[in-house]
Amino acid sequence: MASDLRTEPHCVANSVQILDAIRSGKNRLSRKDLHVATGISWGTVYRTIDMLIADGLVAERKEGPSGRGRPNIPISLVPGAAYFLGVDIGACQTKLVLCDHAFNIAVKLCVPTPRYSGEEPFWDWLEAIIGDGLSRRSFPREKLRGVGLSVSGNVDSENSVIVSGGNFGLKWGADLPVSRLAQRCGISVRAITTSAAAVWGEYWFGEFAGCANLVTVGLGAGIGSGAVSGGQLLISQPRRPIGYIGHMLMPDNPRVCVCGYRGCLESYSGGNSLALIAAERRPTARSAAELDAAAAAGDAVAQEILLKAASYNAVGVASMIQLYSPEAVVFAGGQSREDGFLYQHTIEALLGILPHERRQTFTISLTRLGEYQSAMGAARLAYEKFL
Ligand SMILES: [Zn+2]
Repeated sequence: MASDLRTEPHCVANSVQILDAIRSGKNRLSRKDLHVATGISWGTVYRTIDMLIADGLVAERKEGPSGRGRPNIPISLVPGAAYFLGVDIGACQTKLVLCDHAFNIAVKLCVPTPRYSGEEPFWDWLEAIIGDGLSRRSFPREKLRGVGLSVSGNVDSENSVIVSGGNFGLKWGADLPVSRLAQRCGISVRAITTSAAAVWGEYWFGEFAGCANLVTVGLGAGIGSGAVSGGQLLISQPRRPIGYIGHMLMPDNPRVCVCGYRGCLESYSGGNSLALIAAERRPTARSAAELDAAAAAGDAVAQEILLKAASYNAVGVASMIQLYSPEAVVFAGGQSREDGFLYQHTIEALLGILPHERRQTFTISLTRLGEYQSAMGAARLAYEKFL
């Protein structure tokens, strides 16, 4: 009976909301407190908690009465009762996080993303990573409820199809159904874009957790941005993207992008693009990181390249600020380093082009979730979908 109820979408939503309230109340809230905290009707809270107890996800802690009246019975999460996997397929690296429903992290893993060479090798590789991640924590397999995939590329989340991942060689229209991975692993799988997973990770676990209007910016091989607006995650679909700033057209940029268009922001400012530009203009710096170090040391050519990249980045980020009026903008990705020449000049250029009154309305920060930001967002997605 409980498992039938669990598959009803509104039941999953109630369960998620109640578990979130238990977690944020630090396992001290009673059924009545949870009814007040969530605004869910008393009857539904009562039934949902019974179901969660039957499912082993929460337990009642019977504590002695404090004074007169009925004893306060707090509901607490049972650690390790259910697990969720978040896998973030980045342009260069793939990160995996295994966590339980209390979001205690059990396993973290980071491996290089291979260049795409066909559907079967892709699923073979992903299945092996998931197997590797799971093998590092011993628990009954049935406790794994689902996998959230975050993909640096285009994802049709509504139909669970990976459409492209230009930065690791997955061309537009490849259309890989994630059900293939689900069949292989025998587990439910959902996918969203890395940009959406990043901002969702930040919204739940980052420095500005709970900030209803939040923008994240990823400066890596790809350049993308995610938004939470009014507490809602904005999810990209292939033909109606959100935060697609890497593919905004810069009028004076002649370079051709991995997407096929000429002039995209990312075709200049993206990490792989900067490495190519460095190879053309300053062959001693072979990577974006080396170019950044040369600029910081005063190399005029490196500075010229990166100041242009910074001015492009600023246009993309300023557009997100103008569109979504965030209270916080959180940067992540390999090129977002406090001491980085490109990062510092991106912020400087951004503040330089925003109207004065706009500059007062938001805070800029670097993620504290590190390289696992999007993997955490993907794990959260799996939790919300497959609890
Ligand atoms: Zn492009």
